[in-house]
Amino acid sequence: MRASQVLHARPEGLYCPAGDFFIDPVRPVERALVTHGHSDHARAGHAHVLATRETLDIMALRYGEGFAGSTQVARLGEEIRIGEARVAFHPAGHVLGSAQIAVSVGGLCIVASGDYKRAADPTAAGFEVVPCDVFISEATFGLPVFRHPDAAHEIGRLLGSVAEFPERTHLVGAYALGKAQRVIRLLRDHGYDRPIYIHGALQKLCDYYASRGIDLGDLRPATLDTSDRTSFAGEIVVGTPSAFADRWARRFADPVACFASGWMRIRQRARQRGVELPLIISDHSDWDELTQTIADTGAGEVWVTHGREEALARWCELKGIAARPLHLVGYEDEAE
Ligand SMILES: [Zn+2]
Ligand SMILES: [Zn+2]
Repeated sequence: MRASQVLHARPEGLYCPAGDFFIDPVRPVERALVTHGHSDHARAGHAHVLATRETLDIMALRYGEGFAGSTQVARLGEEIRIGEARVAFHPAGHVLGSAQIAVSVGGLCIVASGDYKRAADPTAAGFEVVPCDVFISEATFGLPVFRHPDAAHEIGRLLGSVAEFPERTHLVGAYALGKAQRVIRLLRDHGYDRPIYIHGALQKLCDYYASRGIDLGDLRPATLDTSDRTSFAGEIVVGTPSAFADRWARRFADPVACFASGWMRIRQRARQRGVELPLIISDHSDWDELTQTIADTGAGEVWVTHGREEALARWCELKGIAARPLHLVGYEDEAE
């Protein structure tokens, strides 16, 4: 059995002939296994979807209950037979419900990790190392220049700025699934117990996280209208990056534009976006986490996907690990 017979790239996504299914397909298919709820991985319109409880719930929140013909819950660590393949979901540490998918056929095991990180995150189950023959790694931050600082340190910088500028509103841009809830939870862990104001686009997912036992504290809608006298001076407002680009954001008191993203490591990106306080908080592995994880899995072969495939593939080869880029299309890193 060759690895490419177990899984290979097709225009729809990564395909397993033995089980006749796709992992994170970008087009509607008969049977999809979905690693997590980000919109580039989890799409509506498949006949059958197998994913964790949380990922299925998140898909229903985003696309409506009829997002798939039928669904099946994958419990973490439980083996499921599909045709001639055996599959198991394991936590990926990326966002709530995110999972790696281990596919075994004829004694060969391939782990499709989806998006993952190793850094601690109070809003997602921690990444689990799954020994395998072939490891499929993302490479969003697959260059040695990317080394994420401790997220708690970045939250400390945000709170320092809030203390320093009590007359200004801190507008924190964070993606709706995962990053926003992580930033809010980290603020709580830092002892920040004032109300946090959120843009309407975050409400449903924040409510869902809370319903899964992730306490986000006192969240209030950041609603401004012309008759509203409150200016949110001294407050923290969290919204999606796109919300801060529209008129809604212009009414806040002398705002400090903040953005929580691994890309904030690059000063020029922060400047281009008009970000005054860049917060380097990422839900993807940095270079050290990527290389450590590849070593930890013991995989003899690595397939590298969305991101900087070449650098990570070269690193593998220098370590004596066979590696090749998997040119999958349609993944856009909603999360960063
Ligand atoms: Zn993702
Ligand atoms: Zn992704």
